Amino acid sequence: MTTLTPVLTDTWDAERSWTLETYLAHDGYAALRKALTMTPADLVQTVKDSGLRGRGGAGFPTGMKWGFLPPDDGKPRYLVVNADESEPGTCKDIPLMMASPQHLVEGVAITSVAINCHHAFIYVRGEVLHVYRRLLAAVREAYDAGYLGKDILGSGFDLDVTVHAGAGAYICGEETALLDSLEGRRGQPRLKPPFPAVEGLYARPTVVNNVESIASVPAIVRLGADWFASMGVGRSTGHGLFSLSGHVTRPGQYEAPLGVTLRELLDMAGGVRAGHELKFWTPGGSSTPMFTSAHLDVPLDYESVGAAKSMLGTRALQLFDETTCVVRAVSRWTDFYAHESCGKCTPCREGTYWMKQVLRRIEAGGGADGDIDLLLDLCDNILGRAFCALGDGATSPVTSSIELFRDEYQAHIDGHGCPFDPAASALFE
Ligand code: NAD
Repeated sequence: MTTLTPVLTDTWDAERSWTLETYLAHDGYAALRKALTMTPADLVQTVKDSGLRGRGGAGFPTGMKWGFLPPDDGKPRYLVVNADESEPGTCKDIPLMMASPQHLVEGVAITSVAINCHHAFIYVRGEVLHVYRRLLAAVREAYDAGYLGKDILGSGFDLDVTVHAGAGAYICGEETALLDSLEGRRGQPRLKPPFPAVEGLYARPTVVNNVESIASVPAIVRLGADWFASMGVGRSTGHGLFSLSGHVTRPGQYEAPLGVTLRELLDMAGGVRAGHELKFWTPGGSSTPMFTSAHLDVPLDYESVGAAKSMLGTRALQLFDETTCVVRAVSRWTDFYAHESCGKCTPCREGTYWMKQVLRRIEAGGGADGDIDLLLDLCDNILGRAFCALGDGATSPVTSSIELFRDEYQAHIDGHGCPFDPAASALFE
């Protein structure tokens, strides 16, 4: 049976876990000291060898991304940490930054050494003021102790870190919209290529990495690439935070090797809420096609989840029991995508709006025969045609729920309303 692997979460239960003092008592900054004795090329190679893949959802190899930066021309190059976690159900980076922000700050320092960047940014979601404040305090502590600023630890390496609060737009988690927002413009995605590695912040080479990816770097440097690569399955190496929410007895963060199954995670989380059974769940946020209880034993690694026709995404496992109306859940998610569509491209702007209208009328009992196919047709016109991943993601819950629960959609249309009692699925009074 898989057990937890507390690496990022190792200090979460400690008193004042978020302080530098606590972090130092748990080998904090030993990795930075080691990194400062290594060459940038060796650091990049270590992360490549570890197999670490982007923990923001896409799973792109982190070391390879660092390696895409063009040769250093002595001009500025940047590291930008994407801390704009907003995918529905995704709730790992915020607890990580609250409970142990120094993991991230040390990761920022090491990554900056690896890519020879002297100014790094952490772009955090605007709504989470408490996280912004905690990051500011953590960065200040690191400056005061000599881990950031001029001549860090007497190495001759200078690094400034700016914590920037966004204004609360889901699209600003898309890396190029994030860069536009950081530059002071309205956040909308840019055309790729050029990828940020070549032309990013202020048109300079930029590495954009997720919080958990960067926070994973110190342990890789300290304990070695082989240690990290020994966990996980195949090309999905290492450990990750699995966030269980919804109809589960003990919701929360479970740090485990990639490849763990929902069945194993549920063993640790006390199972589905008492007296109920699992109906559907998302492996990695609402943008990933949903699973059912038939998928309890799918190893949660990139390849296995992909083979089961979904995506590992952000490992946001949202669990819904048999009291939940799937049409209602999908309708709520679609409201979110329609609201957050940035409006730049027509398929996403118009398509999410129309999906929202059709879903709402089906749920309210005004659905007509043909509406299910109309929804599928709308998805067809968004998928692969939108400017960024937001549009594609918006189609996932709709298409996957229709594939798995078409009868339930039809029952809403035939019965002129929702057969479920919303109070039965509510978690709170
Ligand atoms: P992507 O696959 O297009 O890119 C992933 C990363 O790899 C990017 O940083 C990109 O710049 C880089 N990359 C890819 N090809 C490259 C190349 N040829 N050269 C240089 N760099 C290259 O994915 P994406 O659109 O950035 O992200 C989509 C994912 O985001 C989804 O899978 C979803 O799970 C996730 N997501 C996460 C959240 C959240 O809150 N964490 C929210 C929404 C979506």
